[in-house]
Amino acid sequence: MSGARGDDIPLDGLPAGPSDQTGASGSPDVAIETEEFVNRTLQLFDLPSSVDLLTGGEFWRTKPMSAVGLRQLVFSDGAAGVRGEGWSVGDPSICFPSPAALGSTWDVGLIGRLAEEVAAEATRKGVDVVLAPTVNLQRSPLAGRHFEYLSEDPLLIGRLGAAYVTSLQRHGVAATAKHYVANDAETNRFTVDVRVDDQTLREVYLAPFEQLVTSAGVWAVMAAYNSVNGATMTENSLLTTPLVKEWGFDGVVVSDWYATRSTDSAARGGLTLVMPGPRGPWGPALLAAVSTDRVADGIITDKVRRLLRLAVRVGALAPRRSEDRRRFQASAEAQPDGDALRNLLREAASASVVLASNTGVLPLDPVSMRRLAVLGPNAADMPVQGGGSSAVVPPYSTSLLEALRTAMGPTAHIEHAVGAPIREGLWPVTAAMTTCISCGRPGVHVRYVDAEGREIRNEHRPDGRLVWFGDQLPRRATVEIATRVRVAAAGTWRFGVAGVGHFQLELDGQVVLAEVVRPERPSFASSFLDPPRRSVDRELAEGEQLDLVLRHRPEHDDDFVKAVLGFRPPEAEPDQELATAVALARAADVAVVVVGTDEELETEGRDRVTTSLSGRQDELVRQVAKVNPRTVVVVISGAPVATPWRAQVSALLLAQFGGQEASAALTEVLLGVTEPGGRLATTWGADDADVPVWTTRPVDGVLPYAEGLDVGYRAWVRTGRHPAYWFGHGLGYTDWAYETIAAPAVLAAGEDVTVRVRIANIGNRRGKEVVQVYLERSESTVRRPAIWLAGFAVVTADPGEVREVDVQVSPRAFQHWSVAEHGWRTEPGAFRLSAGRSAGDRPLAAEIVVTAPDQGD
Ligand code: BGC
Repeated sequence: MSGARGDDIPLDGLPAGPSDQTGASGSPDVAIETEEFVNRTLQLFDLPSSVDLLTGGEFWRTKPMSAVGLRQLVFSDGAAGVRGEGWSVGDPSICFPSPAALGSTWDVGLIGRLAEEVAAEATRKGVDVVLAPTVNLQRSPLAGRHFEYLSEDPLLIGRLGAAYVTSLQRHGVAATAKHYVANDAETNRFTVDVRVDDQTLREVYLAPFEQLVTSAGVWAVMAAYNSVNGATMTENSLLTTPLVKEWGFDGVVVSDWYATRSTDSAARGGLTLVMPGPRGPWGPALLAAVSTDRVADGIITDKVRRLLRLAVRVGALAPRRSEDRRRFQASAEAQPDGDALRNLLREAASASVVLASNTGVLPLDPVSMRRLAVLGPNAADMPVQGGGSSAVVPPYSTSLLEALRTAMGPTAHIEHAVGAPIREGLWPVTAAMTTCISCGRPGVHVRYVDAEGREIRNEHRPDGRLVWFGDQLPRRATVEIATRVRVAAAGTWRFGVAGVGHFQLELDGQVVLAEVVRPERPSFASSFLDPPRRSVDRELAEGEQLDLVLRHRPEHDDDFVKAVLGFRPPEAEPDQELATAVALARAADVAVVVVGTDEELETEGRDRVTTSLSGRQDELVRQVAKVNPRTVVVVISGAPVATPWRAQVSALLLAQFGGQEASAALTEVLLGVTEPGGRLATTWGADDADVPVWTTRPVDGVLPYAEGLDVGYRAWVRTGRHPAYWFGHGLGYTDWAYETIAAPAVLAAGEDVTVRVRIANIGNRRGKEVVQVYLERSESTVRRPAIWLAGFAVVTADPGEVREVDVQVSPRAFQHWSVAEHGWRTEPGAFRLSAGRSAGDRPLAAEIVVTAPDQGD
């Protein structure tokens, strides 16, 4: 560590930067040049400035060190889109299909193209590090963030995640592989100790991270909240082995937000950066630990080196030389309109929609179908993303009902009823229904007032959902949100608040609510993730106006604060609502019932307790199917839901949260303009009792992954149970014949193999197929899954066309993790290869004998 004080060093005296700071070219020369530059810059840091850099400067930013030419690195969540540092309708973000939807595309190329748009959006929003992809496993359907994970299969997750990372980083925007590791559910996520054996850890949970590090060279990894085998992840030895020592990770390990618990152990354990800042357990405490030799000086140097390397990669260090990023910025800003983006998002959303069953009613024929009943809670209110930190504010949202009306034109007879409401909360008051009392524009007027009643600042916001991160909300301030509402219909309107802390609500000058609201389930960021609600009802006539003033003061200094000034429109009586929907279905040529979950039911911070649809949705589907033989059900959800009525409906479409173009995409799928290209990336159980890997609830703080290697379809195959829909399943609008499989009979361990599968499109339209190759081994001395995915390929073909599809299977697919030898090994002998359309439908098989053991890794 040099004795120089960073702050005193003049910019002119800085070392010259490498010519290509983004590392985008990935050439060894650039890497060497970068290392030399980083090492020279490192000399300019003394101990205090080094330690200072290792805790964030703000909620989403690191600290700058202008004396060495280092600007702040800006972080943003990214699973649904790049939110940026704020969260407001005034600064929307492209809302991409959720990762669960992307998983269902199985399309590496498509994910790569989407990640290009993520890079462009990050560049537009000034973001250097995107906190995505999430490569945890869809282990239990109950997981609150199931929608944020790609699949239940480690190989599929790794391939898709790697494509995302490669595309994003090519443009000098860092990706973050998260949450390392075994953060596969929400229940007690800060304290849960996941107990998982080493072989399972390596082959299942670490495998996607390994792929992102070793084949995509990810620049950041996020250490999770949970513990694994007794040690919390920000201190866990897995951060060193395998991450650094075996995989050669040279990037930054950033803590999940507030995950760092200790000074010495976390510093010694491999964590690089404590986020968010500026508070945290390092800072002066870490300086003292180094000064007293509890933490070695070299550990700090290594962390600073990693941060500087990341800064160089994203162009935050010596930005004068960051040519690539600047060029890309220019092209990102130059986008003339959103058409290309819109088409890409639509393509991705339709490529993710899974046709689970179809008796022939789909695609709908707009000519013979004159009357259409579009029913269900998700028809007029399309959930496009899950809830929690990944959520963004999309630039627009269109419901499936609207999209169908637009596509089918004014002559189509489309009627709608909710039938079975599921939305429980309050909707934020919208621009359309409000007039700001202060400026007359649509929206709300927000004033920040200090403890003495003095106004600190004021602002205009377009709607009633306010979110503040870190110091965006001045400490101990009271926020006053005021607006005038005009109601569109007569009836009982509900007005209220969602949030935690002191609330006072006035309607037309009269205080109707004054309360200190406490979290119902006290947990991290509960005001943000799980805010309680309070409301009052008012009878109003059509067109009546009401002045609303909400005063809010958070009770604690919280860094994630949400306050919603909300409403709920008048509602029909439940039996009447159901009867209306059934009557519409009876009179229609086709009934489309749109059910599922939404961002309140599937959210970060909380797991579900059942896969059953909430409210009376099952009853709605059953009753509609009874009166209309042409009933199409569309499920919108981020995780599997129980479909007990599936044998009674004519067609079933499963759409994961599909982003801002979800409704347009689904409309095109329903009308046959495009085909449902999705194949399930996770198995859908028939009902709760049947799901083999179920609970996410720790007992005495411990959550054993007792199923070992048998996650998802592997468990269903092992137990001989039949799910509702297998991993890999999805029909599309054409038919395929699986004709032949060819693979070498003998393979030397450690070699790649190509499996050639011949398929024919035997239907009458062009279509997409995902050819899946699985491995199994009946006689083995090694513990193995019953079957496992070894490779896959996406193909399209015209009617009558025959395709020879080459599926690459890498040596790793034949390997197992040997705990005794602490390495990957290949057991010689015969493996059975099978190919088909899903884990449960593999019509072709071949044998492949692997000859000699490799010599390990
Ligand atoms: C989540 C992370 C997220 C972070 C910042 C945490 O609560 O677990 O996934 O990136 O917040 O929003």
